[in-house]
Amino acid sequence: MLSLRVLILGGAGEAAELGRRLAGDARFAPVLSFAGRTRAPSLPPIPYRIGGFGGVEGLVQWMSEHQCDALVCATHPFAGQMRRHAVEAARRGGRPLLMLERPAWVPAAGDRWIEVADMAAAARALGDKPRRVLLTIGQKDLAPFRAAPQHSYVIRSIERPSAESLPPHAELISARGPFTAADERALLLAGRIEALVTKNSGGAATAAKLAAACELGVDVVMVQRPPAPDLDGADVDVATDAAGALAWLVARHDEASRRRGV
Ligand code: NAP
Repeated sequence: MLSLRVLILGGAGEAAELGRRLAGDARFAPVLSFAGRTRAPSLPPIPYRIGGFGGVEGLVQWMSEHQCDALVCATHPFAGQMRRHAVEAARRGGRPLLMLERPAWVPAAGDRWIEVADMAAAARALGDKPRRVLLTIGQKDLAPFRAAPQHSYVIRSIERPSAESLPPHAELISARGPFTAADERALLLAGRIEALVTKNSGGAATAAKLAAACELGVDVVMVQRPPAPDLDGADVDVATDAAGALAWLVARHDEASRRRGV
């Protein structure tokens, strides 16, 4: 039986789920790639590698050396550079690519969202008046909030942020989702939070904060996703979840089996 060699660029929960679905399936020989930003990543039940490839060239070379048949980009929606590199490497290396794109959140009735393009705009959108702000934007995009030192921040992230990136009045919480509505309500109330800043990551694992903010009348500053890569000239399909990615891989496997007469 043909075993389709697949490189999965990880970082989003869907990548881990796809890894679980592929484990033990003889039709596939997958490798899950991590950037290496998380000190204690939860390791998948399939082969994995850790660290950057060295740009587009490095990724093309890796796929060639490992005779990779297909590429799945399941990075976080805000990993804009890796997503661009995946498209360019697939184009140059002539590999089929699946982009896993989790749908963005959309405001519901009663939501008080201020939608902004980037973190600097998010910091400005908090206004001049001192407020208590919850930042759930990860640990690496905090620096713009140093330009808004009038606010008091509660910063929730998986990894501890570097001291240099922190605004002056910052309290740190280390936690990894999923979070329940009750968790989020309790956090907003305990912190006397008046505004929440979040990336529009989409997905269920971290959506409960939006419902809790709506219920408690907390303003939400929603940072929009980076622009999608230009897909022109690449063999690219899009799926919205791990089940869709698996269906795409099965179709690639069956097509390759037919071509090779296996
Ligand atoms: P990025 O800016 O798009 O990528 C920066 C560089 O990191 C890439 O050029 C690549 O280095 C390396 N890289 C990224 N993802 C990789 C992967 N899966 N395997 C190997 N190398 C990878 O990414 P980022 O925003 O720094 O995010 C880093 C990782 O954290 C990503 O995997 C992403 O999915 C995850 N993450 C990001 C966020 C976020 O908000 N940005 C949130 C949750 C998780 P080379 O050029 O050397 O290949």
